[in-house]
Amino acid sequence: MLSTMQDVPLTVTRILEHGMRIHGKSTITTWTGEAEPQRRTFAETGARAGQLANALRDELGVTADERVATLMWNNAEHVEAYFAIPAMGAVLHTLNLRLPPEQLAWIVNHAADRVVIVNGSLLPLLAPLLPHLPTVEHVVVSGPGDRSVLDGAAPRVHDYEELISGRPSTYDWPELDERAAAAMCYTSGTTGDPKGVVYSHRSIYLHSMQVNMTESMGLTDRDTTLVVVPQFHVLAWGLPHATFMTGINMLMPDRFLQPAPLAEMIESEKPTHAAAVPTIWQGLLAEVTARPRDLTSMAQVTIGGAACPPSLMEAYDKLGVRLCHAWGMTETSPLGTMAHPPAGLTAEEEWPYRVTQGRFPAGVEGRLVGPGGEVLPWDGESAGELEVRGNWIAGAYYGGAAGEPFRPEDKFSADGWLKTGDVGVISPDGYLTLTDRAKDVIKSGGEWISSVELENALMGHPAVAEAAVVAVPDDKWGERPLATVVLKEGTSADYEELRAFLATEGGIAKWQLPERWAIVPAVPKTSVGKFDKKVIRKQYADGALD
Ligand code: ADP
Repeated sequence: MLSTMQDVPLTVTRILEHGMRIHGKSTITTWTGEAEPQRRTFAETGARAGQLANALRDELGVTADERVATLMWNNAEHVEAYFAIPAMGAVLHTLNLRLPPEQLAWIVNHAADRVVIVNGSLLPLLAPLLPHLPTVEHVVVSGPGDRSVLDGAAPRVHDYEELISGRPSTYDWPELDERAAAAMCYTSGTTGDPKGVVYSHRSIYLHSMQVNMTESMGLTDRDTTLVVVPQFHVLAWGLPHATFMTGINMLMPDRFLQPAPLAEMIESEKPTHAAAVPTIWQGLLAEVTARPRDLTSMAQVTIGGAACPPSLMEAYDKLGVRLCHAWGMTETSPLGTMAHPPAGLTAEEEWPYRVTQGRFPAGVEGRLVGPGGEVLPWDGESAGELEVRGNWIAGAYYGGAAGEPFRPEDKFSADGWLKTGDVGVISPDGYLTLTDRAKDVIKSGGEWISSVELENALMGHPAVAEAAVVAVPDDKWGERPLATVVLKEGTSADYEELRAFLATEGGIAKWQLPERWAIVPAVPKTSVGKFDKKVIRKQYADGALD
């Protein structure tokens, strides 16, 4: 029997129109590095998105399904692109500005982007690539930057403000199929070529609703969120779309992502929430330790993208800022789990829940799978690979050999679940704890050592700023851990002391203690600010860490 309910497509267009009309006064504040930040309301942003859509269609000839790329920082213009491009039926493709140039070119060509909207400050990155980007016909430049580097470039060059100015702020948005492509992001290609994940209008809509639920970020129009997570990193974890649903104000750091300006914008704009990977919070902690700042407006911070060391959570608790741990991936839109403890617990009882990766929301199912393909129990002990499925989880990657979506066997199970490559356990009450990425697990004499556990324990030492542990080959045991450690400024610690600390305070079993150590000036980071273990393993193999 069919239902009697209306069937209104879940589209980005509806989110845009809702945000403009119902939350028109909510604001996007973009840091400019000058005395005054730029401030725009949702109503203005929506009107400018309409102008952008008119310009893309009438001046640049963009039609449905074409890819329009952005190479931009987090700012109001980038939000305009987030809405205009999907709402007109085209596909927003956010480019990761920290990728090596050759990988960036590979991605633009693979997606066959026709237009690139770029921030002027990023032209030195884009200009030399243009001769290698045959599909790009138009470059639209927004914000300050030397445009002369584009002289002689093959694509037509437009100034963003000139392009949109004088155009109608309304657009006759087409009624779209909610399953149509709205946006795409590529995984960062740690192994092999990057893979494209294409989000649908429906998946973005449902994911945005989840972001807004109290058991996820749970913000309202009384909040301001500091969106540090880049708009090119899994659509800024869904925040630009989610904010238009509930009127959450946005504070955008643009290119001012260093700890000092971040501290300054928090103190002056007083966001109530922020989202970023752990390395950002490590950097900010060092900054406010050296030069104390008031961060207490931020009642809650969403931290994810890599494991959050418990010591970092503790340090922020002391600053009056609560870090809430979340897990996700490009393939999961990204909200997969979030670590809100169950109700009715004391702070002490909450702690073991807060340091997990958290629980699955209703739209995401998870299971752990053992080496033989068997589904493991949720007993808090049986470790296996996490597989997930749900309304905002990828079911394939974009553009295989024949242009069709493809499903590599190592990424999708026969029954269609996404294989995350993450290893962990789930407690009987549904809390996920990840111990490693499958490819980072240290296999020592047939037993597994969790690199994350060693890192978390090391980062609890008062002299340690950052610690990354990788597997290195060992004649006797197959693999053993190598600990690379960054010391805090003005502190010292030797390997013996750190080893002893791991055994005592860290509670690490003796056979798991690293015997190979390196004190390094910095841990290499990936394009989205995570520890780059591939680079550390290579440095070791090249003898650079002896
Ligand atoms: P990349 O593969 O380039 O790092 P993603 O952002 O998609 O790109 O990374 C997803 C991966 O990041 C997950 O599979 C997991 O290994 C790691 N990750 C994300 N959040 C967490 C977390 N809270 N704890 C531990 N690992 C995490």
